[in-house]
Amino acid sequence: VRRWSSWPAPSSPASLPWRSDMRRPVVAANWKMHGSCATVQEFLEALLERVPQNAEAPEVVLCPPYTMIAAAAVVATASPVALGGQSCHWEEKGAFTGEVAPGMLVEVGASWVIVGHSERRQHFGESDDTALRRAKAAQQAGLRVIYCLGETLEQRDGGETFAVLERQSSVIGALEPAGVVVAYEPVWAIGTGRNASPEQAQEAHAFLRGRLRALWGPAAEGVRLLYGGSVKPDNAQALMRQPDVDGALVGGASLDAVSFLAIIQSAATV
Ligand code: PEP
Repeated sequence: VRRWSSWPAPSSPASLPWRSDMRRPVVAANWKMHGSCATVQEFLEALLERVPQNAEAPEVVLCPPYTMIAAAAVVATASPVALGGQSCHWEEKGAFTGEVAPGMLVEVGASWVIVGHSERRQHFGESDDTALRRAKAAQQAGLRVIYCLGETLEQRDGGETFAVLERQSSVIGALEPAGVVVAYEPVWAIGTGRNASPEQAQEAHAFLRGRLRALWGPAAEGVRLLYGGSVKPDNAQALMRQPDVDGALVGGASLDAVSFLAIIQSAATV
């Protein structure tokens, strides 16, 4: 049983005690390119009626498209639900059409950002190098980072899973551990309805924990490792019961307040 009721406020990550039994779960919603300003507000209103509101509850993060963050903040400010962007650029400003700076996310109410998502890697040329640059800039702007990595089906079938995770995670050592959550998202499980088994997730998370220990030393014990890939209300608890699975990054099932809430409640009861 994890004990994290005495966990300090999330705004003071530097003072976190590095104890593996005190990793407060994080449940994050990645809305990808879905929703509207109206639906994000309705979603938050429904969520806030039921979301656990005490110090022992999981941290909840909602990452809608950029254009909806300000509307979401109208409802979420001073609530237990934090907001995040789905990526950010590494520069503060400049001629980078279509990009958004970390400070711009902060201005509209975000306190988190997803970086290195496999859809960015697959469709928009994201690399380990650019993901790291984004994550560093985000940390400098005061954002907390959900750093995504994971292998493709081809890589898993080819026995390369750990080599891929080793390569992808090697850059993370350049970040401040207190402001990073690492999301293991096997590409073959994202949006496919085919989740990793709890044992597969634990195996990858234990490997990543070892990598983080090598990079960060004892600070790695306090870093939350999220599983992402077809998390649903009916599989969330078994996944999050694994000792190194400290929460979930949820795509499809986060678009519906009832199913997202059920996943949050699963995290609250592990
Ligand atoms: C994701 O996009 O990060 C994700 C995990 O999606 P899904 O839950 O739909 O597989």
